[in-house]
Amino acid sequence: MNTKQTDQAYVAHTYARFPVEIVSGRGSEVFDETGKRYIDLTSGIGVDAFGVADPAWIAAVTAQLGRVQHISNLFYTAPAANLAQLLCERTGMKRVFFSNSGAEANECAIKAARKYAAQTKGADTYTILTLEKSFHGRTLATLSATGQDKYHAQFQPLLPGFVHTPANDLDALKAAAETHKLAAVMMECVQGEGGVTALDPAFVQGAAAFCKANDILLIIDEVQTGNGRTGTLYAYEQFGVKPDLVTTAKGLGGGLPLGACLFGEKVQDVFQPGDHGSTSGGSPAACAGALSVLGRIDDKLLSEVRAKSAYLFEIFTGAEGIESVSGLGLMIGLKTTKPAPEILAAARERGVLALTAKEKIRLLPALNIPMEQLKEAAGIIVDCCKL
Ligand SMILES: *Cc1c(COP(=O)(O)O)cnc(C)c1O
Repeated sequence: MNTKQTDQAYVAHTYARFPVEIVSGRGSEVFDETGKRYIDLTSGIGVDAFGVADPAWIAAVTAQLGRVQHISNLFYTAPAANLAQLLCERTGMKRVFFSNSGAEANECAIKAARKYAAQTKGADTYTILTLEKSFHGRTLATLSATGQDKYHAQFQPLLPGFVHTPANDLDALKAAAETHKLAAVMMECVQGEGGVTALDPAFVQGAAAFCKANDILLIIDEVQTGNGRTGTLYAYEQFGVKPDLVTTAKGLGGGLPLGACLFGEKVQDVFQPGDHGSTSGGSPAACAGALSVLGRIDDKLLSEVRAKSAYLFEIFTGAEGIESVSGLGLMIGLKTTKPAPEILAAARERGVLALTAKEKIRLLPALNIPMEQLKEAAGIIVDCCKL
């Protein structure tokens, strides 16, 4: 059997995979089993911040692998301590909990918000408000947080204590706070899986002010938007708010599983030993890789991300068959006249890999994709969108 047949026979059928087997790559170029080259505009769904087989990341991870790859959170290890320090210094947050995924980072934030609310307002204050079309993960709690019915249908009963209101509707959020005792409001500044749509900054600021006035925690889910993806280290910086909890994952690990929940001043001491944990979370190998990633997301790289974003907005806006362009930084959504899957198949044929989000095309290239490759790939996408 070839890989595709073996996979279909033995791997659970939870993914509608593209009909491509990737065997190797370098940067934003990847190769399939026949040796065909693709320009990768997916970066492993925003995980490979510096592309595939990134030499600096490999060096950082392998150096750590040769010392100790994992030893558990019962011991101190320098990579986790140093990464937490770097995250706090660069965000102004106070403490970090490391997990293995975005969903687990959100689980941590949800637990922290429930404990904080129980301590400050009483055990009946536990509801987390999230937005319609949001995506917060696949575990039962984060699925309950996710404001999309299509993910809920087969998995009832979901966890109690979640309520969803429409994005950009501050009145609906305030009304929900009248009928539910809110522990926290959680949102993505740019909804990713929900269609690559940036929230209205006035709404985010209004929600943040309302939360602050009512001692409701503000959780910003930066699992997809974080780590340079939107042109700033974290997207919330561009929305002018100061969250109480920030969650991130995807690009942070640069390819190894790693999530983080960052605690602001108000909640920095909410957890005590025994309240939360993860066996593999914050492993030395994953944190060493993340230190390499984060260390290179500097002002120069971020301005390059913004310049590449501006280029993409320009080339896609008004192009034939492209009805609208959305997103922020190198997180871009294209509403197309032809169905997105049809366009993606044509692009793959011509050697370009891209994603979908709802009915849109979604582009998440590596942050360091060379301009020539970005131009080549964008040109092919534009061609494939033509009617
Ligand atoms: C991908 C994603 C998650 C889930 O992350 P996993 O690592 O798959 O658990 C949560 N929130 C947002 C915004 C995401 O994009």
